[in-house]
Amino acid sequence: MLHVAINGKPGAFAEGISILHALRSAGIEVPTLCHDDRLKPYGGCRLCVVQVKGWPRPVTACNTPLEAGMEIETHSPEIENARRTLLALLAHDSRPFAIPHRPEKEFHKVLRLYDIPADRDGGSRNVLPDDSHPYIRVDMSQCIHCYRCVRICNEVQGQFVWQVWNRGDRTVIRPDSGTTLLESGCVSCGACVDTCPTGALEDNSILSFGTPTSWTRTTCPYCGTGCEMFVGLRENRIVSVRPASDAPVSRGHLCVKGRYAFEFVHSPSRVTQPMIRVGQEWKRVSWDEAIQFTAGELRRIVTEHGSDAVGVLGSARATNEENYLAQKFARVVLGTNNVDCCARVCHAPSAAALKTMLGTGAATNSFADIERARTILVCGANSTENHPIVGARIKQAALRGAHLIVIDPRRIELARYADCHLQLRPGTNVPLLNAMACSILQEGLCDEQAMRHRIADGRRFEEFIREWPAERAEKICGVEAGLIRKAARLYAVDKPAMCFHGLGVTEHSQGTEGVMCLVNLALLTGNIGKPGTGVNPLRGQNNVQGAAHMGCDPKSLTGSISLEDGGDIFQRAWDAPIPPRKGLNLMEMMDAARRGTLKALWAIGYDVFLTNPRAHETGKALRSLECVIVQDMFLNETAKEFGTVFLPAASSFEKDGTFMNAERRIQRVRKAIDPLGQSRPDWKILCDIAAAMGSGAQFDFHSPEEIWNEVRSVWKAGAGISYTRLEHGGLQWPCPSEDHPGTDILHADAFSAGERARLRPVDYTSTSEKVSDEFPFVLNSGRTFYQFNAGTMTMRTANASLRPVDCLQISPADAERLSLQDEERVRVRSHYGEAVLPVQIDSGISPGELFATFHSVDVFLNFLTGPRQDPFTGTPEYKVTAVQLEKI
Ligand code: SF4
Repeated sequence: MLHVAINGKPGAFAEGISILHALRSAGIEVPTLCHDDRLKPYGGCRLCVVQVKGWPRPVTACNTPLEAGMEIETHSPEIENARRTLLALLAHDSRPFAIPHRPEKEFHKVLRLYDIPADRDGGSRNVLPDDSHPYIRVDMSQCIHCYRCVRICNEVQGQFVWQVWNRGDRTVIRPDSGTTLLESGCVSCGACVDTCPTGALEDNSILSFGTPTSWTRTTCPYCGTGCEMFVGLRENRIVSVRPASDAPVSRGHLCVKGRYAFEFVHSPSRVTQPMIRVGQEWKRVSWDEAIQFTAGELRRIVTEHGSDAVGVLGSARATNEENYLAQKFARVVLGTNNVDCCARVCHAPSAAALKTMLGTGAATNSFADIERARTILVCGANSTENHPIVGARIKQAALRGAHLIVIDPRRIELARYADCHLQLRPGTNVPLLNAMACSILQEGLCDEQAMRHRIADGRRFEEFIREWPAERAEKICGVEAGLIRKAARLYAVDKPAMCFHGLGVTEHSQGTEGVMCLVNLALLTGNIGKPGTGVNPLRGQNNVQGAAHMGCDPKSLTGSISLEDGGDIFQRAWDAPIPPRKGLNLMEMMDAARRGTLKALWAIGYDVFLTNPRAHETGKALRSLECVIVQDMFLNETAKEFGTVFLPAASSFEKDGTFMNAERRIQRVRKAIDPLGQSRPDWKILCDIAAAMGSGAQFDFHSPEEIWNEVRSVWKAGAGISYTRLEHGGLQWPCPSEDHPGTDILHADAFSAGERARLRPVDYTSTSEKVSDEFPFVLNSGRTFYQFNAGTMTMRTANASLRPVDCLQISPADAERLSLQDEERVRVRSHYGEAVLPVQIDSGISPGELFATFHSVDVFLNFLTGPRQDPFTGTPEYKVTAVQLEKI
């Protein structure tokens, strides 16, 4: 501890902090305008000056380290006078009308505190506002040159959009475009707005609807990163979202979806009354009628065709509590294990591979390990677009000197920062990763300790992997052998090395085996069970990890316990028999519907028609059903085309509960506004229908907390995670008791599967989807930054103007050969169907390959995708489709 005196009062403070932090921890406020805890101390505004006894002149508290023995004076008349002079100079440039309008801005508060009037002439700077951006208004006439916008864009987001032009009195801050913010490289994360102390950068929503009157802390409803946010409210309307500065994942940052894409909640296309289809028309009905109708249909189908004639789909958009109830409903009320969720079409292979090899089907480490890793391997994951906060952290780590290896068929943004970009042919992850393992062994770079103490039967793997020299992989993957070796060396030598992967690994016919190859690499090099290491799937949706883990899986119960192992426990807890036979997964449900054995489907927060592959076949399956129950906020494509009954669900802003993010962290979802119209939380709808079907006793819940307490009673690894504890922040499972701190790193001493793990020899099986003269291009598909999955939410926000339609990215060489220009529309055909979309020429795409997003109904990309699946999990091979192009 450091002993110092502040304003004559002695105190002891931790070493390594600044004077400013010491003052704040002692409860002494000094004004600052350029300081933000998310940024490196700058000392530019000089308002935080303090006098240290014996020092020749005042120093800025924010960037002066605290030293033992300091005697600090914070509010002497000289210092306060200096502050007043500085503020008067800054106020000279401020716009007089801004101050009464935005009293909560830091600058305006300080002006009031020091009784400094704003310049009545209207400021000396004559800069026109920029209204080009749908979310952010720029009015640099209010700028005080604290450079917080410039610094946060560089130091947190890594986008380098705001730039300082000119010098002295002529200094202006402008976007990199030199023109408008909309034309710049801005990714609309809103960090600059969040940090701006004056209102020079402001949210349009606040300017339109007014400053929020209250704020509610909750968790983002979009991707699996799990950023925490404050939702700003005014008259039961969301008017703003701000990042939570103490959130462990997002650390005071959000991406455009979390920060701005909330307007869907109040969209006029929201359906908030239950409806039943009568002929071709939807008829609005009361909740009683809808519940009785749904219960009656389910009862009729179970009686006529048996329990297994019904399938239930839980939702990555719903809470853990709601997914728990969805699978309990399928098993207890309907008597079937036909329950699944969208993990089937994304990371089921990750869960399967990690569980098989290590014993737990979830990320081994935490996002906090990004800053601990010396090498980061990103395989098949475009994180700056799809998990932007993780992407920004990886980018910052690379800028600080961490090694970065990117394995991706496209030159994605992270590739710019990478030591090596292995631009492989789509569908060739297995040979590439095998070759990396082979190089590591050939060059003697495996971790001897790990090989000796943590791996069983390493010799068998060594014999197998010898057959995979980099030269062999080069022929298959198209990546030069030397580059494969370089990547292998970095990963094995510059430790700790951490690995992230995405759907570019899992959505292949060898999806599970691709993840197994990543686990092999981590095991061989000892990059597991330690800080800065591990194998970490970047889960796509906010609660997809939770949906599957709560038991929306045809083979496992809550906590990923198999039907065989968990049957007895759950039977006792639920006081009902558990059907012993494994159920149908989502893909098998579609097959069964086409065969006529599945008669009803209940899809909770899931647009099956738009998102499943082979839309023609999905359509046939849904059309064959006698009853399609859609529970959603909007009449999605499944509802529009095939729905029998529509149950209006509340958004996550309108209910309580928990989400589980990609690093196993359970975080609170809190109700910010009342459910709109007659919409209800999913858990309430499930309980009401269970009661109508005679199972009220097992679904007698009055709050999400009561449901969660039942979850904890059947799921040992989550037993210690109570709502009371979650009030103080999220907890990562395993957390078996209320005095357990949670687990940020799995497999530290032993693997969940046992003391030693087995390396897995994985041979390469090429996909049977082949390019040919007729279908010469390989189409890869994925998400884009501004849109989210089926676009149900983001397409109903201004994100739609930032990215209105799906595009087909094509290499410049192919575009030239086919005489295609940017935005020209093309017809894309595959063996399975066709789609029409505009072209976007992109130098990051290799010749012969194409990439398209799949968000918009107008394009409906899944008419193109095919039937192939990962044999372990049934996950579709979305990433490889042979197609032809035709200019329209
Ligand atoms: Fe939300 Fe994901 Fe963006 Fe975070 S990174 S704000 S969780 S969409």
